[in-house]
Amino acid sequence: MEKWPIGVFASVDAGLGIHLPVAHELGISTVQLHAPHGPSRSPQHAERFLAEIKKYHITLTAVFGGFDGESYADIPTVEQTVGLVPKATRAARLAEMKEIANFAKLLHCHVVALHLGFVPHDRQSADYREVVVVTQELCDFVAKMGQKLHLETGQETAEALVQFIDDVQRPNLFVNFDPANMILYGTGEPIAALEQLGKRVHSVHCKDANWAKNPGKEWGKEMPLGEGEVDFKKYLMTLKKIGYRGPLTIEREIPQEPERQKMEIAGAVTLLKRLRDELLDTPTI
Ligand code: MG
Repeated sequence: MEKWPIGVFASVDAGLGIHLPVAHELGISTVQLHAPHGPSRSPQHAERFLAEIKKYHITLTAVFGGFDGESYADIPTVEQTVGLVPKATRAARLAEMKEIANFAKLLHCHVVALHLGFVPHDRQSADYREVVVVTQELCDFVAKMGQKLHLETGQETAEALVQFIDDVQRPNLFVNFDPANMILYGTGEPIAALEQLGKRVHSVHCKDANWAKNPGKEWGKEMPLGEGEVDFKKYLMTLKKIGYRGPLTIEREIPQEPERQKMEIAGAVTLLKRLRDELLDTPTI
């Protein structure tokens, strides 16, 4: 694969991504896919999807898990509803993540990813230990199929995420870095966080955001790429510095406005291509 191919977050019938024909129209060569709903994870649906990406010359680079009942309404709601952390739904969602990994295998995809949720802060607590154990179980399950697990950033500081990954101790556990999420959740300056996560970063989102007035207490605001407070030139320079070679997957989460979503993703493609060409031509920075 070329270095830093442009990607986009895509959806079939669940999640906030764009549909494949739109990705194709925008000339995008890779996608991360939000896992479709259960009934759409059949071998027949997988075949259809594979035929579609082949037709469009698109490479699938990751399948993202997401669950019914998750809400990103505000930070406390995320804490209560997102990922494998909430206890009431943990077992069912672990089982569903395994199904999603099976579906990813049908799609010949070697990366599954998710928002794990807010990892408890006290490393000595039983709650923390339980989240470590459930993550280990998921890593071991996907490892048997030759897959890696990528954790989306946002809910943790880079430091806490490094510590958590070290505690899980699995060789197939990595990070999907999202600079905008660091700002939206108020968990740290994105460039410094990316440097700190370094080699653990095996996939990235290109999304922009503005800081909230009270970071960590209220949401920041997602912005069109290039209009927010992520410095994309520095972001790409830092990706180069840490040796990241994978896709630059654009995420713009406004599916309620599909025309605007498409237009703003097109703008992001142009900006990223320009920066990429500039930086890849520079041997040392
Ligand atoms: Mg993201």
